[in-house]
Amino acid sequence: MVKKPIKEKKTVPDALKTPKGMHDVLPYEFPWWLKVSRTAEKIAEFYGFLKIETPVLEQAGLFARAVGEDTDIVQKEMFIVKTKGDDTLALRPEGTAPVARAFLEHSLGKSAPLQKLWYEGPMFRYENPQAGRYRGFHQIGFEIIGGPNDPMYDAQVILATQRLLEELKIKNINLKINSIGCRVCRPIYKRQLQAYYKPHLKQLCGDCNRRYTTNPLRLLDCKNEKCQPFKEKAPNFFDKLCLTCSTHLKTVLEYLDELSVSYALDNQLVRGLDYYSRTVFEFYIDGEGVNLGAVAGGGRYDYLIELLGGRPTPGVGGALGVERLIEVMKAQGEVAPARIPKKVFIIHVGEQAKKKSLNIIEEIRKANISVTEALSRESLKAQLKMADREGAALALILGQKEIFEGSIIIRDLKNSLQENVPLDRMIEEIRKHLK
Ligand code: AMP
Repeated sequence: MVKKPIKEKKTVPDALKTPKGMHDVLPYEFPWWLKVSRTAEKIAEFYGFLKIETPVLEQAGLFARAVGEDTDIVQKEMFIVKTKGDDTLALRPEGTAPVARAFLEHSLGKSAPLQKLWYEGPMFRYENPQAGRYRGFHQIGFEIIGGPNDPMYDAQVILATQRLLEELKIKNINLKINSIGCRVCRPIYKRQLQAYYKPHLKQLCGDCNRRYTTNPLRLLDCKNEKCQPFKEKAPNFFDKLCLTCSTHLKTVLEYLDELSVSYALDNQLVRGLDYYSRTVFEFYIDGEGVNLGAVAGGGRYDYLIELLGGRPTPGVGGALGVERLIEVMKAQGEVAPARIPKKVFIIHVGEQAKKKSLNIIEEIRKANISVTEALSRESLKAQLKMADREGAALALILGQKEIFEGSIIIRDLKNSLQENVPLDRMIEEIRKHLK
């Protein structure tokens, strides 16, 4: 059984420790990670998403083009790598732009115009680390690219995200949804927002003053105390959406109603990435101890493929933060997912038996029966104790006498009954016992 290690004296000098905001995933944490990953795989399979993996390093220009030159991610948060060949690469800060790049680069739309893809992997953002916010973190994402521009897909991405949260037994799920319009209505709204904020610029924070010119929608995203009163009275985008965008939003909501997915409309929800159009959404978890920000977020990105040089192609997607999911599960009192114990534990007595055990283990593995050992231990008592701790069903005991006879002892660890069986019938007998 892998146990949380007892805190030992520092062994690594500070200068060699994990960089600020990065973390190891240690063996005792892995059951949580496996649970999230396997559940995501199950959900993805159910809703017909195929897995895709893109490199951790991409051309930095990809994110400047897709996410937006003026976004925080590109301006402040990218880890840039200068290669010896003078390329400027970036550790990916998010997964959608790389997936869209791969869609275009490999003409994925040719084989099937509608691509439903999912991914999991590490992302990197140079942010100020705090609870639930790291510089190295992991995301699971669902993307639907191509096909018709159908609000059904917005609902499907939201549904897959919601179902993943539910399958992980996460409670108090709170979905916020908004539309940030399109090329027709957004510029008009942006100008109205600027006109509204203009007389108040001196009272706003530095970030808002910058956003006022570079990215006015993000004025609505400000968390600074002194900007809140202005935010509250800002013009409402819902009233300004063009007919196509308001019909799109209405239809997405109708699909969610049909699916009994509850949501709250939030007219101030905007997202930090430029490529979104129309639907944007975020999932929060309410309750004590889970105040980590959104656990998932996403939206429609109908201009993204075009921004990368392709034909106008609709797209919609969302990503969940794995670290935050695990923190929420723990805070909500979920118990650590149980490890599946190995079925058979090999015990050796003496040097010769130790050597022989190596091949016996291989034979059992080949028969697809899970097996483990403590070959570094010599005492029979210590090995039996470990077999018990492992939770194995059977112990296979091999000593000098058994080697001489060409046999092995099979001991049922539940009732301590044991029998001696010829080695050439070992697998058959193990199977019988395991039944
Ligand atoms: P985003 O790509 O910003 O829409 O983020 C999607 C999800 O990834 C968020 O809802 C978080 O769960 C997670 N996430 C984003 N940034 C971080 C971070 N710095 N540290 C941990 N999780 C993050």
